[in-house]
Amino acid sequence: MPTLDDVAGRYDLTPDDLARLLAGEPAFRVRQVWDGLYRRVADPADLTDLPAALRARLATEPELAPSLHPELESVSDAGDTVKWLWSLHDGTRVETVLMHYRDGRSTVCVSTQAGCAMACGFCATGQAGFERNLSTGEIVEQVARAIRTARPRRVSNVVFMGMGEPLANYDRVWEAVRRLHDDVGISARHLTISTVGIVPGIRRLAGEDLPVNLAVSLHAADDTLRDELVPINRRYPLAALVAACHDYLDAKGRRLSFEWALIDGVNDRPADARRLAALARPLGAHVNLIPLNPTPGYLTRGTPPERVRAFRETLTGLGVNATVRRNRGTDIDAACGQLRASATVASPVTLRQAD
Ligand code: SAH
Repeated sequence: MPTLDDVAGRYDLTPDDLARLLAGEPAFRVRQVWDGLYRRVADPADLTDLPAALRARLATEPELAPSLHPELESVSDAGDTVKWLWSLHDGTRVETVLMHYRDGRSTVCVSTQAGCAMACGFCATGQAGFERNLSTGEIVEQVARAIRTARPRRVSNVVFMGMGEPLANYDRVWEAVRRLHDDVGISARHLTISTVGIVPGIRRLAGEDLPVNLAVSLHAADDTLRDELVPINRRYPLAALVAACHDYLDAKGRRLSFEWALIDGVNDRPADARRLAALARPLGAHVNLIPLNPTPGYLTRGTPPERVRAFRETLTGLGVNATVRRNRGTDIDAACGQLRASATVASPVTLRQAD
């Protein structure tokens, strides 16, 4: 019996499950349907290379039903960001964000849990608390839906940076990584896992055979401030986190990045930049700066642009590469830290009700 966390939607099936569904059909049909779902990212009903009768049967097969039911689909004013609010089989809601870039490529940001237990005070998902883990299929299907929507653009990157803490749902997230890599064909360097800093999870990742990118949401470079902003720091303090980052780097040789939400008057002082540089430089880590998006439970402003620039210049002056990230999708509550299904149901900027 599937548990609440492991619902058998179309991307939760194993090849054996599919073989069981296709019992009585020629053996090659299993590979054909598998490739249809993963390589071609098609709906079973659209697999026109299957005999019509089989296709009709698969289209009504409950185990091949989609797991994600669109409640809302919003497009930003600039048209470059799409956000979905999905409802799942048990009524839980999660969000996915698709971002198009000028060079023609697109990135999808997926949720890994409904809600989050990490309780970072500035993050809307953290404010709402934890509901449940997403299944592997619920994670993979977010990417599949984005790939289909983006066409003819290509979704080149997947970032595990939506709702939830990926390393607190390790097994299902890693299985999703495997499917995206092995079956959809996305290379490891185009997959990024973002973590609040779960040290045992980072160590496990370091032992995996796929060198995915690791992003660590740092936000503070001293334990007193980080304990306050990111409560899990009390369990895994900076020294342990940074040691795990060094081990990841040694094991994988991938560029590490630190995420830093710049909060007005809280973590944007020159001394903060210097402390951050002292941690980032020995790791060769890239720093992504993003002015904080105010959320209902944490109204402090993001750092204003001129001080964002000054912070960045302090870092670069100390030999650390830093990029200021644009706040995308703010108008549709799709920006970093704003994903919170319950708050977006009545979003006034919804452009169209999904069917
Ligand atoms: N739990 C994971 C992934 C989800 S959060 C993690 O912590 O990395 C994705 C990113 O958005 C993190 O870097 C997080 O710190 C950041 N974030 C959360 N709330 C934010 C806010 N209000 N403004 C800007 N960034 C925020």
